[in-house]
Amino acid sequence: MNFSNTEDIFKNSKKILIISHVNPDGDALGSTCGLYKAVYNRFKKKADMCALTYLSPVYNFLPNIGLAKHSYDTSLVYDLVVTVDVADIDRICDMKVLFDKAKTTINIDHHKTNNNFADYNYVVPEASSTGEVLFNMFKNSGWEIDKETAECLYTAILTDTGGFRFDNTTEDVLSAAANLVKLGANPSQIFANCYEFKSKNFVMFQNYCVGKSVFTEDDKIAYTTVYKRDLERFNGKDDFTEGLAEQLRAIDTTDLAFVVKEVEPNKVCKISMRSKKYDVSKICSAFGGGGHARAAGCTIKSSVDNAVSKIIDEIKRNDYGE
Ligand code: 5GP
Ligand code: MN
Repeated sequence: MNFSNTEDIFKNSKKILIISHVNPDGDALGSTCGLYKAVYNRFKKKADMCALTYLSPVYNFLPNIGLAKHSYDTSLVYDLVVTVDVADIDRICDMKVLFDKAKTTINIDHHKTNNNFADYNYVVPEASSTGEVLFNMFKNSGWEIDKETAECLYTAILTDTGGFRFDNTTEDVLSAAANLVKLGANPSQIFANCYEFKSKNFVMFQNYCVGKSVFTEDDKIAYTTVYKRDLERFNGKDDFTEGLAEQLRAIDTTDLAFVVKEVEPNKVCKISMRSKKYDVSKICSAFGGGGHARAAGCTIKSSVDNAVSKIIDEIKRNDYGE
């Protein structure tokens, strides 16, 4: 995909905002910082970066992450707002005001449920990550990928492929990663930063949640619940549930795993779903969410118990297997 028709937009925009989804993961933050640096190198412009809500300290190693703010004054008017890794415009929460007011908007993503909400849309569902989409855009358009940009994009690809293990790890992904290593990304250092930087509380919390997981349908479905009080007990933050659903999916009998996290007691839950063979983006879409075939999410307005029953009913009611 060629990025060159956006060249003039970047050139002519004075105030630029780069923003990703709420509770940003490695792809969201790597893509934000990677695009920031690439725009700086090409146009000598410093864009604003927004990383919504809690920032996981795991990603503090990303170049320029310290410049990202949790929110911006909603009275600002940007010439250009670029969303990266944002499947659905509601995922930028209150900052949607800035998107709506911007003179021009660009949407760069890889979620197949993305509905092309911007003026210019670069949505590549076959790509492993938004980091991979950016890598190809920069390469095809002759944008410089310096060491810092390479580190950011490598982090994005590494984390969204689960460390090059998920079925989105293609020949193209590995070739992009090899190119990024050539450009200065250090694989073992980035791996250690992403995966060997967990706090004791994080590991203990995840073990606790795995320990109380429930198995149904001949152990084909595995799920666990996370209440606010569980997080409090371990002094946990929002990112403490990252990777939890993957742990349940790793069990040999599991076809589908999900985590129900209490957001507002008895009112709102956030669901993280993973699978080996079901299209979980369809299950989550039934609840107004979305994502990828093997990793998706949604928000359900109910108690945790109720959300569990609703999800299991939805799985049983439909044949989502492929
Ligand atoms: P996670 O479970 O890690 O939060 O999300 C898994 C995948 O589903 C990610 O690619 C994420 O962007 C997407 N996702 C999670 N929650 C939602 C949601 O509420 N709506 C949409 N459209 N996508 C979501
Ligand atoms: Mn992503």
